[in-house]
Amino acid sequence: MARYELYDEEGSAINERCPECEDTFLADHGDRLHCGRCGFSKAA
Ligand SMILES: [Zn+2]
Repeated sequence: MARYELYDEEGSAINERCPECEDTFLADHGDRLHCGRCGFSKAA
């Protein structure tokens, strides 16, 4: 499965895209990432 990440100017990952939606970014809730579109979540 392809892994998509967005990087800020310092080169660190700030958000990961949902593997289900692919065009939606996962929201960071501290200990996990959550997709508000389809409800997908994973441990951060
Ligand atoms: Zn999703």
